[in-house]
Amino acid sequence: PYNGMSADEIFQKRKSFLGPSLFHYYQKPLNIVEGKMQYLFDDSGRRYLDAFAGIVTVSCGHCHPDIVNAVVEQTKLLQHTTTIYLHHAIVEFAEALASKMPGNLKVVYFVNSGTEANELAMMMARLYSGNLSMIALRNAYHGGSAGTIGLTALNTWKYPLPQGEIHHVVNPDPYRGVFGSDAALYAKELQDHIDYGTPGKIAGFIAETIQGVGGAVELAPGYLKLVYDIVRKAGGVCIADEVQSGFGRTGSHYWGFETQGVIPDIVTMAKGIGNGLPLGAVVTTPEIAQVMAQKIQFNTFGGNPVCSAGGLAVLKVLDKEKRQIHCADVGSHLIERLRSLQKNHEIIGDVRGQGLMVGIELVTDREKKTPAKVETGVLFEKLKDLGVLVGKGGLHGNVFRIKPPMCFTKADADFLVDALDYAISGM
Ligand code: PMP
Repeated sequence: PYNGMSADEIFQKRKSFLGPSLFHYYQKPLNIVEGKMQYLFDDSGRRYLDAFAGIVTVSCGHCHPDIVNAVVEQTKLLQHTTTIYLHHAIVEFAEALASKMPGNLKVVYFVNSGTEANELAMMMARLYSGNLSMIALRNAYHGGSAGTIGLTALNTWKYPLPQGEIHHVVNPDPYRGVFGSDAALYAKELQDHIDYGTPGKIAGFIAETIQGVGGAVELAPGYLKLVYDIVRKAGGVCIADEVQSGFGRTGSHYWGFETQGVIPDIVTMAKGIGNGLPLGAVVTTPEIAQVMAQKIQFNTFGGNPVCSAGGLAVLKVLDKEKRQIHCADVGSHLIERLRSLQKNHEIIGDVRGQGLMVGIELVTDREKKTPAKVETGVLFEKLKDLGVLVGKGGLHGNVFRIKPPMCFTKADADFLVDALDYAISGM
């Protein structure tokens, strides 16, 4: 399949034929032509350790054979019909996904992306509650459509368009947040916001349990429990965006929200659910789903046979290969090693995360927490030169995001930490 087109030619064609708003990583963007589990290969055959998984999307590993096989076999037999006919793949996948959910979260809607999932979730919240106001957290990313950029709260992504009736509350960020780790103070701020900034009744609240694009920011412990109570008392539904934090990545639990001991009313998923297939899902209760029955809800590609076969294979692989416990094991090793690296390098302001969803925030001054923007860029290039691909995040672009395919090993973690140590030491 790789036709030999050079990186320069691809880059030129990209500029000519794709939109000008595309961004790329690295001064000289990589031309990646092949992937195998936690590794990527460029057009010269050079291997890279992939610690970002196509933005937290390749959950099981690049081109995992079980998933490739499921997709190929289904493609050969029947690619597409839509839900106007019956097909076993969509119901098998829905049943398997529902079996992973706690409480009464049993009704599944399949869509094609995280943005679509959050659009649908917001629509359900408004229809079910009869209210309009949505609350999201500052520093959140929930999508790029006209509706979901309203939920997103990072100015880099927000086009100047009407953003709907959406409010952003202070982020319960233990490192940078105004109230530190004090969940009760953040929750009080949210209550105040409902009282003073909305009609008093709201449609819903949405949050990632660990903010992804925002830079692997964990929410203050206990925050969601307090906030879910407040939101429900104000007539709203609670939405957990598990697009990045789900499927065992946090290690201790299958879903990110479980790390905060809550059960949402609606859960949205994408990315890792398909290991690279365009696939998203919304899971909710039968009661909430009932409000959608007043009209027809339809999605041409949602739950198509190929993506459903692939998605089911993902769930099976994650179980068969015990990826959740693996994430806990490798993740704690990685975090431990990064924390000891932090002792030697002033520039590492914060190491945070759970399982294989880890953030390293770089600062030029630990007291003032001044974002080390330039230095992050230099180290980012250097890591790539050393053969390690990480993500970058946060409003100031000063956080490394380590969210590899879940087959990432302790030896891979060691290589990453050693490369980072070497890169910082040489700066
Ligand atoms: N929610 C979260 C937490 C995300 O990280 C993203 C994508 N970065 C989205 C939603 C939107 O997903 P998609 O790009 O598939 O529309």
